[in-house]
Parts: sequence; structure tokens; C-alpha cells
Amino acid sequence: MDARLKSALETVIERQSGRNIVDAKRVDSAAVSGDTATIILTPPVAGEPDLDRLRAEIEPAVTAIDGVARVRIVMTAHRGEGKPAPKSRPAPAPTSSTKPARHVIAVASGKGGVGKSTVAANLAAALAKNGMKVGLLDADIYGPSAPRLFGLNDVPGLRKTEAGVQPITAHGVAIISMGFVVKPGAPVVWRGPMVQGAIRQFMTETDWGDLDVLILDMPPGTGDAQLAIAQDLPVDGAVIVSTPQDLALDDARKAIGLFEQTHVPVLGVVENMSIFICPHCGEGSHIFGSGGAKDEAAKIGAQFLGEIPLHPDLRARSDAGEPVALDDGPIATAFLKTAQAALAAADEASKPLPEIVFD
Ligand code: ADP
Repeated sequence: MDARLKSALETVIERQSGRNIVDAKRVDSAAVSGDTATIILTPPVAGEPDLDRLRAEIEPAVTAIDGVARVRIVMTAHRGEGKPAPKSRPAPAPTSSTKPARHVIAVASGKGGVGKSTVAANLAAALAKNGMKVGLLDADIYGPSAPRLFGLNDVPGLRKTEAGVQPITAHGVAIISMGFVVKPGAPVVWRGPMVQGAIRQFMTETDWGDLDVLILDMPPGTGDAQLAIAQDLPVDGAVIVSTPQDLALDDARKAIGLFEQTHVPVLGVVENMSIFICPHCGEGSHIFGSGGAKDEAAKIGAQFLGEIPLHPDLRARSDAGEPVALDDGPIATAFLKTAQAALAAADEASKPLPEIVFD
């Protein structure tokens, strides 16, 4: 956490414990981007959520920092804001050992080509830019794209030390991709169990360091391989990427069904290519129709996490190996907002279930 932010937040006292909110572990993350500070708070261990009171004290303390004009404060599990909470995991934790990050978020889609990898990469880049420690596991063995999206096409392979497999860091994101291991065009036929084994190995044997978030870019589709991965890995939940077209939504529905079947919480839906912003006049038009993913999310009780515009820059920057989320423009903002919504949903989903106390 930025030292100036930390000092400012240490002046705010949590009533319930009498300690400052940093020591009371109420600050989930805090970062400054441009002139805006974003503070994500966790709810108090005991008592009522106290967002309004904390907001009133945090705002003046943080805007007193040179260069900070605005403060965005979110309480992760603040109920009652009208958003459906992701369903918590009803089943026991998955089989694969320890979690490599505080939050593990799978990014999935019902079919290829909807921009799943683009979204996964940019969510990771947006969070890293915002000061979080982020990893990206590109498990899309059928078309690994993290090397291209992060300008790492020439990485010769992965190194393993005593600490584990060493990820490659680019734009602040620690990356492991099947693309570093299997070269394009190499005649490798992946059978389901091999895919699952390779992904599990990368997740658990990589020297990720101390990650806040690990984004898992899943193979597209809803077959046995995806089912096994969802069942096997310690993910908090899944973000489903869809385009507004009906067909893609049908596929998105299948992807949602897959996660529900495996008791992995669906954190929400992201609508990609939702609006076309004309690069010449700046005017927006919904060329694929509008609101499909939002409506669908509402229908199945999933949260709508955000919409990413269709923009030629996104494709061009992806091809140039520089995630557009690193910019300060409206597309970057859309990714950051979506990433923060996904993170808040993951926080909610990963809370332990309340214990039943018997007399
Ligand atoms: P998937 O992982 O679902 O197969 P990709 O992330 O590889 O899809 O994206 C497919 C293509 O669409 C890529 O060329 C990518 O640059 C482009 N693309 C994805 N999202 C957008 C967007 N919002 N605007 C413009 N192009 C996009």
C-alpha cells in the first residue's frame, strides 16, 4: 500500500475495536490512480457495516494527500445495495491443495472468440496498475494468448528453481502461459486429464510470491476438461465473458451451468464488445443489440460486472503486447471497474460459511 495512503488511513479509527482501520484489517486494498484513490474495505468482524461513518472520516484524510482529488470507497460485503450476492460454495473445498493467492478468479466463456483472454489479461493488468500483486495463469491450452497480449512471444521457456516454476513478469503481472511451454504449431494433442494435470501443476508449483489475485484464463467451452478444472482447482469463483449476441449468450448460459454444477460460485457476467465507439466521432452504437448480458445476468441471479466497449484500439494494443487497461482512457476505466466488481464478488464468495452452533 502507498505509504501516504497508509498513514492517512491509520488516522481513521474503527469504533468496534478502537483500533485504526489498517491495524483492524479493515483495508482490503488501497491505491491511487491518476487523481483518484480507491479504497476497498472489508466489513467489521462484529456489528453493523459502518461504511457511511468511515467514508466521512476517510474522505478528508485521503484528499489531504497531495495530488488526490477524489476518493472511491467500496465495502466488499456491504449487503443491501441491490446487487445479488454470488452464491457461496456449498460443497467442500476443491481437491488441489493450497490457494496460490488471496483470491483466485477464473475467467471463462461458453465458446471461443468472445474476448475471454483479452478480458482476463486486461483485468489482471488493471488490478496490477492499481497497486495489487497480480498473477495470470493462461490455461487456454487450445489458444494461449498471454504471450501475445503481454509482448512475450520470444520467451524461450520457463525456468524452475528450488522455489518453483518462475513466472514471467510483464506490466506488473506475473504470468504463466501454456504458450511458454508449447510452441505454436507444435503437434500436441491434449487429452482432458493432461490438461487438468498441467494446469494444476502450474497453479500449485509456480513460485507466485505473495499474490493478492490470481486470474485463471480458462480454456473456452463447457466440456469435460473445463468441468475437471473447475472442480479441481481452488478458485473463489468464475467470471463469465459473453458478447451481446444471442448465440454467445446461449453459450454463456452453458458456462454458467457448468460452474453451478461444480459448485463454483459464478461471480458475475462481463459483456464484451458491448458498444461500438466510433474512433472518428466518438459516438457509441450498440451494433450487436444492447443489454443482453445484463438481462441474462439478472434472470439467473448473477451479478452484472461490467461492459467493455468494442474498440479497434483494444485489438491493436493487444496485438502490440500492451494491455489497454494500462492507459487512463475510458476502456481502461471499464476494465478497472469490472475488475473491482469481480474482486468484491470474490471476497463475498470466499467468506467461510456461517457455522451452526448446537447447544
Ligand atoms: P477468446 O479468448 O474468447 O477466444 P480473444 O480474447 O482471443 O477471444 O479475442 C478474440 C479477438 O477479438 C482478438 O483479436 C481480440 O483482440 C479481439 N477483441 C476482443 N475484445 C475486443 C473488444 N472489446 N474490442 C475489439 N476487439 C476485441
